[in-house]
Amino acid sequence: MPIQFYDPGVRISEVMAAQGHEQVVLLSEPEIGLRAVIAIHSTALGPALGGIRFWNYADDADAIADALRLSEAMSWKASAAGLHQGGGKAVVQWTDPTQRRTPEQLAALGRAIDELGGRYIAAEDVGATTADMDGIAASTPWATGVSASLGGSGDPSPVTAFGVLAGMRAAAQERWGVDSLEGRRVVIQGAGKVGSGLARLLVADGARVSIGDVDAQRVRDLAVEIGVAPLDPDDIPGAECDVLAPCALGGFVNADSIDRLQCEVLCGGANNQLASDAMDDALVARGVLYAPDFVVNAGGILNIAEEFTGYSRDRAFAAAAGIECTTTRVFALARAWEIPPGQAALRMARERIEREPFGTGRWEPGDPAAWTGGAPLRRLRP
Ligand code: NAD
Repeated sequence: MPIQFYDPGVRISEVMAAQGHEQVVLLSEPEIGLRAVIAIHSTALGPALGGIRFWNYADDADAIADALRLSEAMSWKASAAGLHQGGGKAVVQWTDPTQRRTPEQLAALGRAIDELGGRYIAAEDVGATTADMDGIAASTPWATGVSASLGGSGDPSPVTAFGVLAGMRAAAQERWGVDSLEGRRVVIQGAGKVGSGLARLLVADGARVSIGDVDAQRVRDLAVEIGVAPLDPDDIPGAECDVLAPCALGGFVNADSIDRLQCEVLCGGANNQLASDAMDDALVARGVLYAPDFVVNAGGILNIAEEFTGYSRDRAFAAAAGIECTTTRVFALARAWEIPPGQAALRMARERIEREPFGTGRWEPGDPAAWTGGAPLRRLRP
C-alpha cells in the first residue's frame, strides 16, 4: 500500500523516497497570484516530460499529492512507450477555470522550468492551452505543445486516438484472434478530442459505435457527422458491447461500476481508468480484458517526443502505430507472469527503467549527449 501524503505525520520526503521521486519544486509568488508544484519522478531514461495542469486544489497537500502521483505515472508511460524520457508533472493551483493566465504568471512558470535546465520538459495538460505554452516558452526552451509557428506539434489528440485504436486491435487479436474491429460493438465514454477522434477511426474500420457524453451537444454533432448512436452517459458502464472505451476522466472502473460491466475488452484513452490497483484483479475476475491505459494512450507523448528531432506528423503516427506491438507484448507478459495486464505493464515499465539508466541514473543538464546518444540536443525553441 503506497504511503499517502495525507496520512498524519507523513513527510513529503518520505513519500518521495517511497515512490522514488527525485525532486519536487514548490513555487510561491503571492504578488502575482501564483502557486505551483513541479514534481520530477525519474530522469533515469532522460529528461522528465509531463504536462502542466491548472486545477482547483483543496489545499497545498492536495496539489503536491497530485503532482507526485501524476509524475510517477508519466515515468511508466514514457518507459512503456520505449522513449528516452523520464516522468514529471507540474500543477498550478487555479481556482477560477474561466480566468486566463497573465503574462507575468506564465513568465514566472517559464523561469522556474528554465532553472531546472531541461530536467523537466513541460507539455500541455488539463486546463492548459497552446497560448499558455507559448507564454511559458517565452522564458524557457524547455516547453513543448507550443504553436506550430514556434516549432510546436499542435493538438496531440488525433495521434492519441490513433494509438488507442492500435491498442484496441491488439486486444481484439488477444480476445477474438482477429486484429480488426469490423462489426464489433464499441461504446465510447466521452465525445471530446480523443473520444470523437477514436469514433471516426472506428466507424471507418466498420465498427458499430455508440457514444455518450455529459455534453449532449457533442454527441449530437458526432451523430450527424459520422452516424454514431447516442447513449445516455449513465448507461455507459452497464452497456452491452464488445469493447468499452473510457475517453473522459479517470476512475471509470471503480467499486460501483465493476459489477455492471458487460464488455469483453476495456481499452480507451482516459488516464488512470482504474480507481484502485484492486480493480486490475477485479477485471480479470469479471472476464474483461484490460488494455492498460498508459500503454494505449501514449500517442500524445510519442507525438511530443517528435518535437525534439524536428517535428514530423507522419513519424508521430508511425510511432503511435507501434502501440499495437507494445500492447501485444503486455498481454504476452501478463500470461507468462500470470498477473493482470495492468500489473504486467507496470512491471515491464519499471524493469526498463532499472535496466537502462545511464551514469548515475539521473539526467543532469550538463550531459545531453548521454541522452541523445551523442547527437547534439536540438533545443525546443529557436
Ligand atoms: P476533452 O476534454 O476534449 O474530452 C473529454 C470529454 O469527456 C468531454 O467532452 C466531457 O464532456 C466528457 N465527459 C466528462 N465526464 C464525463 C462523464 N462522466 N461521462 C461522459 N462524458 C464525460 O479531453 P480529451 O483530450 O479528449 O482527453 C480525454 C481523456 O484522455 C482524458 O482522461 C485525458 O487525460 C486523456 N488523454 C488525452 C490525450 C490527448 O492527446 N488529448 C493524451 C493522453 C491521454
